Amino acid sequence: MTEAVATAARGGSWLLEDTPAGSTFTPERMTEEQRLIDQTTREFVTGEVLEQNDQLEAKDWDLARRLLLRCGELGILGTDVPEEYGGIPLDTVTTALIAGRLGESGSFSTTFGAQTGLAVLPILAFGTEAQKQRYLPGLVSGETVGAYCLSEAGSGSDALGAKTRADRQDDGSFRLNGEKMWISNGGFADVYIVFAKVAGEHFTAFIVERAFEGVSSGAEEHKMGLIGSSTTPVIFQDARVPAENLLGEIGKGHKVAFNVLNYGRFKLGASTVGSSQGAIREAARYAAQRRQFGQPIASFGAIKHKLGEMTIRAFAIESMVFRTAGLIDAGVEGSASGHEAALLAALEEHAIESSMLKVAGSEILDYILDENVQIHGGNGYVRDYPAERHYRDARVNRIFEGTNEINRLLIPGMLVRRALKGHLPLIEAARKLQDELLAPAAPAAHGDGFLAPQVGAVGMFKKVGLAVLGIALQTYGEKLSDQQEVLSLEADILIDTYAAESMVHRALATGESGAGALQADAARAFVNDAAVRIEAAARAALAAMTEGDTLRTHLAALRRLLKVSPLNTVAIRRRLADEAVARGGYVF
Ligand SMILES: Cc1cc2nc3c(=O)[nH]c(=O)nc-3n(C[C@H](O)[C@H](O)[C@H](O)COP(=O)(O)OP(=O)(O)OC[C@H]3O[C@@H](n4cnc5c(N)ncnc54)[C@H](O)[C@@H]3O)c2cc1C
Repeated sequence: MTEAVATAARGGSWLLEDTPAGSTFTPERMTEEQRLIDQTTREFVTGEVLEQNDQLEAKDWDLARRLLLRCGELGILGTDVPEEYGGIPLDTVTTALIAGRLGESGSFSTTFGAQTGLAVLPILAFGTEAQKQRYLPGLVSGETVGAYCLSEAGSGSDALGAKTRADRQDDGSFRLNGEKMWISNGGFADVYIVFAKVAGEHFTAFIVERAFEGVSSGAEEHKMGLIGSSTTPVIFQDARVPAENLLGEIGKGHKVAFNVLNYGRFKLGASTVGSSQGAIREAARYAAQRRQFGQPIASFGAIKHKLGEMTIRAFAIESMVFRTAGLIDAGVEGSASGHEAALLAALEEHAIESSMLKVAGSEILDYILDENVQIHGGNGYVRDYPAERHYRDARVNRIFEGTNEINRLLIPGMLVRRALKGHLPLIEAARKLQDELLAPAAPAAHGDGFLAPQVGAVGMFKKVGLAVLGIALQTYGEKLSDQQEVLSLEADILIDTYAAESMVHRALATGESGAGALQADAARAFVNDAAVRIEAAARAALAAMTEGDTLRTHLAALRRLLKVSPLNTVAIRRRLADEAVARGGYVF
């Protein structure tokens, strides 16, 4: 279990409060047991998965099955599953560590994710006792392979628009007809979680076995990346599904689908931590040994800038992921419900943070992998080096588990919904803030203690995020959901704010010396640049919503809030890059 666990908090409440730094979980607080599992998973990925990646890319699904069985032996398929169904329940911090290490494996990470997140979780959370006993032990040991069939050719983002239908038969069973698209593990899974509309109307989840009559999978898709993972259509032609394989209630499939997505987004964010760090290792080592103009390319400022920025962004996503994992663990530990119900509730509570991890993680990783290719020059573009494969493999992260566009809309959307339900005092806080901003005031003084200016700046970022959301609510009311550009700008402000605060808290916890000094460097540079991004996003949003004197008043308040003295981030990035090269990889 997580040691020195974070303090339980409502999802999104960090925007409205001065969160105490000590309440944030950081990777430095990991227990010995968590470090051991991290090490075991790392060895499995480098020693067994990556070694055989070419065979996986040749679509050797027997090998994929054997690797899943190995995961079962290592106990990493059932970290959410109680022992009575064959699992070894562990905390969310450990789950995040495992997802992170697996993330480095590219294709197999998707096979693993479909099994643990998409197939195990729905049965665990919504299955009957008989369903759990029948399916979980096999899924947890790796003997059974699972998949999740939500998307269709005509309904991806609009998942509830599915056409697959389920018709009840006289004997209580269901007959399924339809075709699902892009299903991970589709070509060799034994068990599918399938969403279909009962009588063409009521969106419902089912557990469907490949062995059932009328179930088949189509040809493998020819993909840009993740070539070593199976992606196929799954077809139901008068497929007969017994009554006892209904999962949850008729018409309540959306509950299953959305809860699974909450966890999927968290895990996707977590998976980008390992891949980011792996790419920094490759880039730093390559830059140290590749010589041009008589010197290692690592000595050039342009390359240092890249390695420094890669390190800063990797530190951002790692800090955000473990902070969120700590919040979920705190929610689970503080709950009086059983583990599954508590986990589900905590994941729902932190759905906002999980969407932020999904968007930030996938975009940070794409940035890092793109720069990894660039640092490798021509060698980055050919298959002799893994940089090219990573680049292709990662691109889909912005598309699945809800596209980044959809997740950006969800982030402020969920905040507003919670506020309207009375779960978050957001509207009151926004109103109070508006009064405060209209009153003439001197710029806030932040003091000059360790990271004090950054702590102060994060407080201001929160005010900007809250003010923009408050003005958007005032301007558009119930029609705010139609204003996708404003919502997306707000999402970017919120993501930068959560990232900045997570990094600053972590650096504060580590302290001023040793690794702490470098963490503080990374946090300072991030806050410095986030202030500029946040100002640009807020200006664009405010100019879309207001004009004339009102706009001028808002912009003046914005300038007052975001008065961040510029830092020498060139020197900071150089220090971080030199350290990455000296240590041959990610420095934290
Ligand atoms: C390799 C791979 C593996 C996958 N694995 C699975 C799996 O195991 N199970 C499964 O069920 N699915 C899976 N998928 C499908 C994936 O979840 C969908 O592709 C994804 O949800 C996007 O749906 P779509 O492709 O229909 O795109 P669309 O929904 O058509 O979106 C196209 C573009 O329009 C944007 N857009 C759509 N609606 C809106 C809106 N309301 N507002 C603003 N912008 C919008 C999107 O953001 C996107 O940029 C997988 C896909 C791939 C590529």
